[in-house]
Amino acid sequence: MPADVSMDKIVSLCKRRGFVFPSSEIYGGLASCWDYGPNGVELKRNVRDAWWKAVVHERADVIGLDTSIMMHPRVWEASGHVDGFADPMVDCKSCRLRWRADELKTQVCPNCGGALTEPRMFNLMFKTFMGPVEEEASTVYLRPETAQGIFVNFENVMTTSRKKLPFGIAQIGKSFRNEITTGNFIFRTREFEQLELEYFVKPGTDDEWFDYWVKERFDWYVTLGIRKENLRLREHEKGELAHYARACCDIDYLFPMGWSELEGIANRGDFDLTQHAKASGREFLYFDAEANEKYVPYVIEPSAGVDRSVLAFLIDAYDEEDVGGEKRTVVHLHPALAPIKVAVLPLSRNEKLTPLAKTVYRQLCSSFVTDYDDSQSIGRRYRRQDEIGTPFCVTVDFESLEDKQVTIRDRDSLAQIRVPVEELSTILAAKLRGEAFDASSLWATREK
Ligand code: ATP
Repeated sequence: MPADVSMDKIVSLCKRRGFVFPSSEIYGGLASCWDYGPNGVELKRNVRDAWWKAVVHERADVIGLDTSIMMHPRVWEASGHVDGFADPMVDCKSCRLRWRADELKTQVCPNCGGALTEPRMFNLMFKTFMGPVEEEASTVYLRPETAQGIFVNFENVMTTSRKKLPFGIAQIGKSFRNEITTGNFIFRTREFEQLELEYFVKPGTDDEWFDYWVKERFDWYVTLGIRKENLRLREHEKGELAHYARACCDIDYLFPMGWSELEGIANRGDFDLTQHAKASGREFLYFDAEANEKYVPYVIEPSAGVDRSVLAFLIDAYDEEDVGGEKRTVVHLHPALAPIKVAVLPLSRNEKLTPLAKTVYRQLCSSFVTDYDDSQSIGRRYRRQDEIGTPFCVTVDFESLEDKQVTIRDRDSLAQIRVPVEELSTILAAKLRGEAFDASSLWATREK
């Protein structure tokens, strides 16, 4: 349960098992920057793929887009980010630490109790210069959200895809925010990745679609293994809403530091398209043939973070069990998210076992992300796979040489079944899809 899982345990697992490393570690690290290791990169990719599958590929009404990180500076003037994307910042007059004023629960410095300065607004956008001259005219920003890339391409996508309302445009990509305070591992960083959908609807149907997407997105986390009791919906109060939002609801997760935002779903009305129409001199009107009228669509925006999702999935899946008097750390990741789906483990590194084990590996690796490991004792190798969440281990032993059968070990139940090598891919595919597979019927068929 997350209540028992400290962030330290997750950070340590991530380092030990190649999920996440501190960035530039050999130079002492760079605050709030992290690198995804061999298992982390697979997990992160699986989170992106699961989102893309659910939001784009499995729907006829959503299409994808991949826009550039640097955009014309006028985009950020029109969107309101240049003037308004700022947090109030205070400095401690004694220890000099900086805090976000709206997140402080006291009037004094939480670190030393010192007096604080008056709040100043601090713009969170990273600035850089395009081209060789470092002057105001060549200033560009690293995008603080991927959404604006979608709005400025609304016309391009509309005319090329010929979609009718309601329809959505989805994008996955890096965003950058010069956050005043970062922390809680990969929860809040200055460089992070977002999963964003802008779903365009007819004004008047927006409340309905807002509710629809809140439910859809909540269910996505549950389908991928997060326990319902560790998720909650938090509707924003009117006074808390961003200037562009007509409604907003957060999906919060019970992280070790307490309930915190995993994803936000906002009803942005026609704010963005209207702003860009005004600033660019274009018209973003949709012609509704059925109603024979033109209007600016409203937009519902589910906006999630890849890194925060990775963290939540890991925390929720993390478990420590007692098996035969020994502690077993196991990560019960959903098979769709597990970095490695199957590990082929010869009982020992014996030259007689290696050829069959390698054949089994080659048979599997074109269908599943498969690991091959013949170092150390079999028990240690099982533990290693448990810690990275590998759903199935396949063991090749001396009997396998005779009967051409191998053992499949289930990560969660620790149950083992013996199956013919030639049926292994089919059985594993069924198991990874979550289907029960009755191996005895298979054996009966073979015996005939
Ligand atoms: P917060 O209140 O936590 O600062 P926000 O409300 O500003 O977040 P949004 O602008 O709604 O966040 O961004 C959508 C999603 O992007 C968030 O729910 C989160 O998953 C992710 N995200 C935003 N900022 C960060 C960050 N600094 N580090 C990691 N992920 C982030």
